[in-house]
Amino acid sequence: MSLADRSAYPRSHVMPADVPSGTTRKAVRILNGRFDALSAHQVVDEVVRTIDAGQRGVICTVNVAILMMMRSNPRLQRFADTARWAVADGQPLVWSSHLGRPTLPERVTGADLIDLLCARAAREGIGVYFLGASDAIVRQVVDLLRKRHPALDVRGWADGYFGPNEASDRADAIARSGAQLLFVAMGVPRQEYFIEEQWGRLGANVAIGVGGSFDVVAGLRKRAPRLTQRLGLEWAYRLAQEPRRLFMRYLVTNSQFLGLIAWDPIVHAVRSLRPAWRGQ
Ligand code: UDP
Repeated sequence: MSLADRSAYPRSHVMPADVPSGTTRKAVRILNGRFDALSAHQVVDEVVRTIDAGQRGVICTVNVAILMMMRSNPRLQRFADTARWAVADGQPLVWSSHLGRPTLPERVTGADLIDLLCARAAREGIGVYFLGASDAIVRQVVDLLRKRHPALDVRGWADGYFGPNEASDRADAIARSGAQLLFVAMGVPRQEYFIEEQWGRLGANVAIGVGGSFDVVAGLRKRAPRLTQRLGLEWAYRLAQEPRRLFMRYLVTNSQFLGLIAWDPIVHAVRSLRPAWRGQ
């Protein structure tokens, strides 16, 4: 675990406006991931400031499974490295950050960000667009959020089931809607590829990939009770809901993560000793 200066990360070739120039904000490094030490409310504040300033950026939400996926998917790794904001969607990641400095203040989930961002968007008159999940689910999400935030300016929505040839049409529709804030819930890495490929057409200032969060907001998938979340056991709760689909995923990624976290300090210690050996 080490402190990493954001400016040390490579700039994206596809999202050139994404990494703000001259930014000195520090980030937390956990294994191959770079995370911003921001609370959910701070992320929302920065998003609103970015939109107000007419700038652009992507929020990447990373959990343990995605962090492990990034290790074997250079494209996803680069997307996370160059996103304007990368937040930790997992209590184990927050705990791991406490092995170094600075630490992550809290877990920031896609579902929480949807609600907080929409609350703020409603207050500030920011237009929003929802892309992803089935037609019925995305409509339910829109209805629910409109009820919760009556002033919310929903510029449009569309399901996330479309072929590669239709992607640019979807992006053009989002641009025509004039939405400044885009939620994409198509699973990982599908949603990241969409945002990356269509970034030049999208028009929206800020895009966020929220995985399966539309299903959570619509109530199709239940969120774990608060205590279970705080104990870092939301994965077990999800596993109980969809054991067949998730067993291998969680078994492999959780074991890999725990093994790497245990191994990481040893690797760092050996690396730091190497110059001393060479000098002898
Ligand atoms: N989804 C989508 N388009 C697709 C595949 C999935 O919009 O082509 C949506 C799906 O309806 C769900 C979300 O993406 O709301 C997450 O899907 P899934 O659970 O399969 O992703 P995972 O959790 O496996 O990354």
